[in-house]
Amino acid sequence: MAQKILIVEDELNIAQLLQLYLEKEGFETQTAPNGGKAVELFRSFDPDLVLLDIMLPVMDGWSVLKKIRAESKVPVIMLTAKGETDDRVTGLEQGADDYIVKPFETKEVLARIRAVLRRTQGEGETAGERKLSFDKLTINLDAYELIVDGKKIDTPPKELELLFHLASSPNRVFTRNQLLDEVWGFDYFGDSRTVDVHIKRLREKLEGISEAWSLKTVWGVGYKFEVLGQG
Ligand code: CA
Repeated sequence: MAQKILIVEDELNIAQLLQLYLEKEGFETQTAPNGGKAVELFRSFDPDLVLLDIMLPVMDGWSVLKKIRAESKVPVIMLTAKGETDDRVTGLEQGADDYIVKPFETKEVLARIRAVLRRTQGEGETAGERKLSFDKLTINLDAYELIVDGKKIDTPPKELELLFHLASSPNRVFTRNQLLDEVWGFDYFGDSRTVDVHIKRLREKLEGISEAWSLKTVWGVGYKFEVLGQG
C-alpha cells in the first residue's frame, strides 16, 4: 500500500512540484494551501508523514504542528526559510522530526522523507532494546558498558546515556535543550554547556575510531550521531 504524505505549502508551484515528484516515487499525496485546511486534511487523509511549511496564511506552521502533536505522533518535517536557525530549533523542540531548508532539491526532500519514515517505523521494533552496535562501537545501557574497537572504555553514566540517546536515532538532530530534558530530566538545573562538555568527553573517547559514524555538531542547532549511508 502506498504511503501517504500530506504536503502543507501555500506556494502553489512548490506544492505542485513536491506532489508530482512524490507521486512519481510511489507516494500518495494531498496538498493543503493553508493551516486550517492542513488540520482538516490531517484528520481525513490520515497521512504517514507531513511536510509542513512554517509561513502559511490563516494558521501558521507552528499552530498546525501543535494541533497535530496534540492528536498524533505522525512524523513531521518542517520546511523552513534559509537562515532561520531559530525556526529549526523551535521546530525540533515542538516535536518536529526533521527540517528542510528552502530552497531545496526534491531529491533531498525524498531522502529526508525516507530517512524519517525508516527511523519512526523502526522504533517499534527496537523498543526496549538497550544495546546498540555500530562499526567498532557497542553501547550497552543494560551493562553500562562502552566497547570501542574491542576495548571496554570507562565512561560516566551520563555520557553513556547521552551517546545512547543520540545513537538510538541515527542522523536525527537534537537541540541542547532536548538533550538536557531527555537525558538529564526536566528537573535538572544545568545549562546547555553541560551537554557540550559531555559531548567533548565522548569525542575524546571516539575520535578517529571509525569512518562509518561520528558525533557531529550541527551549527546553531545541536548534535547528531551521524551514520553514513543512512540518509
Ligand atoms: Ca509559505
